Amino acid sequence: MVMLTASRLGSRLALGTGKTEVKDMGSYTELGSFFKEGILSLGPGAPSSQYYPFDDISLKIPSIGRFTEAEFMDSGVRVETRKYDMKESRSMYGTGSTQLLDFVTEHTKLVHDPPYLDWQCVLTGGNTSALDLAFRTFTERGSYILVDEYTYPTAFETGYPLGIRYAAIRIDEEGPLPEHMDEILENWDEKTKGAKKPHILYTVPTGQNPSGATQGLERRRNIYRIAQKHDVYILEDDPYYFIQMLPSTGSGKEQLKPSAPTSPSAFVETLVPSFLRLDTDGRVLRMDSFSKIIAPGTRTGWVTASQQIVDRFVRAHETSLQNPSGFSQIMLFKLLREGW
Ligand code: PLP
Repeated sequence: MVMLTASRLGSRLALGTGKTEVKDMGSYTELGSFFKEGILSLGPGAPSSQYYPFDDISLKIPSIGRFTEAEFMDSGVRVETRKYDMKESRSMYGTGSTQLLDFVTEHTKLVHDPPYLDWQCVLTGGNTSALDLAFRTFTERGSYILVDEYTYPTAFETGYPLGIRYAAIRIDEEGPLPEHMDEILENWDEKTKGAKKPHILYTVPTGQNPSGATQGLERRRNIYRIAQKHDVYILEDDPYYFIQMLPSTGSGKEQLKPSAPTSPSAFVETLVPSFLRLDTDGRVLRMDSFSKIIAPGTRTGWVTASQQIVDRFVRAHETSLQNPSGFSQIMLFKLLREGW
């Protein structure tokens, strides 16, 4: 199992963040939360829920596959949610986080089934935010990371102010070339580079931005093998996983169309397995987002990694994002669990 230690994979942020004291205070109340019956803790500075100025939310959810305006008008379901739903046994949705987190964890198990035991998920504010945190967690000023020679520009814009430098792997129509990744790492000279050999690979394996390349299974296996050989940790930024296309037949030729899947599991079978699916060592941090498959304004996603890494994310969130907005969480939960 790949572990964060002071000498490898460790930035000061990753190793130094303990539980925040304000969060810890919650454990002193009877319910393990700030909202013990009859006592309003002034610790977190939150108003009493009695005064939250939102009594209910109503969502109209289209039926699956019926998204045009006309179809939407005469189909779909309306889902309601009210302030004290859970307390009054009207719904299983309560304080948030747990329910949506359980949903994405189950989804990750069904789709990726990571082949090691202590994997976990944590909700994020989408992949931009998750990537920023991953860079802060895994790099120090001056570190090099491996990237495809043309990659998602935000990876540079996030990394430059953090002092990250980039070692570019040549690409072809399937993305980064494993033999070039190996060559860079084999021939790394700390003296001339002025930095240690890169221990992080950032990659967008599906529908890469900007090339559009999707790495096939063999390519992914070979990259993973090189990562094992050089003890490289993989940041898998994969917001387009569910919008895979069949390979193009060449310029001017028709795009092959997939046949309609007969069930969700049959659809999943058609997708190239993720790096997380191949991750026997716990050396992958996978970033998923609702941005590209539901709506970008949800600002919600999740990462999956080994327990130690997820724990670092949870701690770092306590002093930054905290959680994706509760409004987004409840809307997503109602859509995914109760609507669809
Ligand atoms: N990663 C890649 C490769 C992208 O193309 C995008 C596009 O916006 C993002 C991340 C951003 O995702 P999010 O909206 O979840 O922050």
